[in-house]
Amino acid sequence: MRTYTSGPVNPANVPCNGCTLCCKGPGRVVLHPGLDDDITRYGTDIELIPDVGYALVKNKDNSCVYLVDDGDGKGHCGVWPNAPGVCRSFDCRDFARSKWQTLLDPSLRNPVMAKGRELLKDLGREP
Ligand code: SF4
Ligand code: SF4
Repeated sequence: MRTYTSGPVNPANVPCNGCTLCCKGPGRVVLHPGLDDDITRYGTDIELIPDVGYALVKNKDNSCVYLVDDGDGKGHCGVWPNAPGVCRSFDCRDFARSKWQTLLDPSLRNPVMAKGRELLKDLGREP
């Protein structure tokens, strides 16, 4: 379970159970001072993207530099609960219910959106 109980972000409370799909996506994890992100916390694991800001470095396979492989397709965040605000507040179930499901290119919708739908079904709630 990803939980975070302090700071300015609304905490996500997602039963990830080893899922790491959103730590491997094509997007960048951008740091936001307004979400209590302190760039000094991440040392050399950040880079400045022009016109965007600081973002976490990615591995060559597109995974986040902080993703820890636990084997059997599972993993966890190596800096939780000090992960950036966008990570701490992200909930794939909200993503699956959002307008992004119709706006995003289909290649970008999955598999994070599919995971969100799966978890909603587990709750007996359809997206
Ligand atoms: S896709 Fe959902 S279940 Fe998987 S790591 Fe992201 S938030 Fe957790
Ligand atoms: S900081 Fe942690 S939660 Fe955020 S993308 Fe990296 S591994 Fe995933």
